[in-house]
Amino acid sequence: MAKVLIPTPLRQFTGKRDAVSVPGATVGDVLNALTTEYPDLRKQIFNDEGKVRSFVNVYLNDEDVRYMSKDATAAKDDDTISLVPSIAGGSTVTAPPQDAATLSNDEILRYSRHLIIPEVGIEGQQKLKAAKVLLVGAGGLGAPLGLYLAAAGVGRIGMVDFDVVDFTNLQRQVIHTTRDVGRKKLDSAAEKMQAINPNVTVVKHEIALSSENALDILKDYDIVVDGTDNFPTRYLVNDACVLLGKPNVYGSIFRFEGQATVFAYEGGPCYRCLYPEPPPPGLVPSCAEGGVLGILPGTIGLIQATETVKLILGIGEPLVGRLLLYDALGMRFRELKLRKNPECPVCGEHPTITRLIDYHQFCGVPQQPAAPAQETKVNEGEIEVQDVKAMMDRGDKFVLIDVREPHEYKICNIPGARLIPLGEVPKRLGELDRAADIVVHCKSGMRSAKACGILRQAGFEHVRNMKGGILAWSDKVDPSVPKY
Ligand SMILES: [Zn+2]
Repeated sequence: MAKVLIPTPLRQFTGKRDAVSVPGATVGDVLNALTTEYPDLRKQIFNDEGKVRSFVNVYLNDEDVRYMSKDATAAKDDDTISLVPSIAGGSTVTAPPQDAATLSNDEILRYSRHLIIPEVGIEGQQKLKAAKVLLVGAGGLGAPLGLYLAAAGVGRIGMVDFDVVDFTNLQRQVIHTTRDVGRKKLDSAAEKMQAINPNVTVVKHEIALSSENALDILKDYDIVVDGTDNFPTRYLVNDACVLLGKPNVYGSIFRFEGQATVFAYEGGPCYRCLYPEPPPPGLVPSCAEGGVLGILPGTIGLIQATETVKLILGIGEPLVGRLLLYDALGMRFRELKLRKNPECPVCGEHPTITRLIDYHQFCGVPQQPAAPAQETKVNEGEIEVQDVKAMMDRGDKFVLIDVREPHEYKICNIPGARLIPLGEVPKRLGELDRAADIVVHCKSGMRSAKACGILRQAGFEHVRNMKGGILAWSDKVDPSVPKY
């Protein structure tokens, strides 16, 4: 029996189990046995031709099976097989210190604890002062990165972000305070960094990074740190770094788990070597949908900050060709070998991507229109929260289905709503009357739209999606319902 470790996003298909022991002489046999036991997992791991999907990597112990015998790789009883899906966060990289990087007496005192480490010293601190680092995102990962890189004396820190601070950010984005809610994240972050260390220059790039502007923005920096929370930007940052030859210090987070590595550094692998293609939209939830432990971006962001400082100083062993996996619940770090893929479409021997592409299209994510949600009109198959309330008040006969998760239902719910989490909808259709008038809701209207689609496909005729979900209910019908 080989042990298969199931990562968080796939545990919904294994009855929440994080490890499953299944028999099999080869990795392929083991995965077949696993997906026979958990059929819902099958289509997540295999494509229609029965091949392992390219956004899932399979490791036998710490080796990628693509570089062994793939599916035919022999699996022994005490082997551990890891499924690693993509998750919806040297000395040559910097110019030699210039005269401008000379330290003032004030700086010498400030950086005293650095200067007395032989591996850093005056010269190292000058390298830090001369360094130019770009942080993509001023959110969960960007917060600890910004604070510590400023404190450490990285001379020029660019930040790309166009968001404003939201109340729900404060649980983890420790660079912003309660008073900053509603302010631009860049203004809030720059202010804190400057307050910690007035010697550093913070460059604010208040823009959405795109194929049109990425090369132009990235080219002025020595190191790029990826703190994004979405796949289009992640692939964009990767490709731009490969094309420009800049190291990409990568981190990503989900619930209790994180990943970190350094891509595109001195012949090392890139993100596409690991994940040539993104997962289908909607499969991997974002932090907004799936949640994240507030402390987690601190841990991962500081691993990124550490790697950044090591690259600037040219000391230690950079996290290149190694994917660090962190599991906060087990408090375990694991490391998997990453290899440069000679067939990689961007950094391989015969690259097919030689300039930036349309990443929203590539990831199957339509670009969100900028128009505020309340301006959009009600589409067919949708119903406003006030109309649902009116139906209740009139005593109309209809079924209200809540497709959120049980733990969300406990936070708040609409009296009379019946809880059927989205993942259970397909197998619980039998509980519902096909002729009934059905209204479906979730938190904001996205998951309920999917549930409506499932119901309509199954032949339910009177199905409507409650627009804006329970958040809109709280705004427009019952303000005593808490928002989360
Ligand atoms: Zn590559």
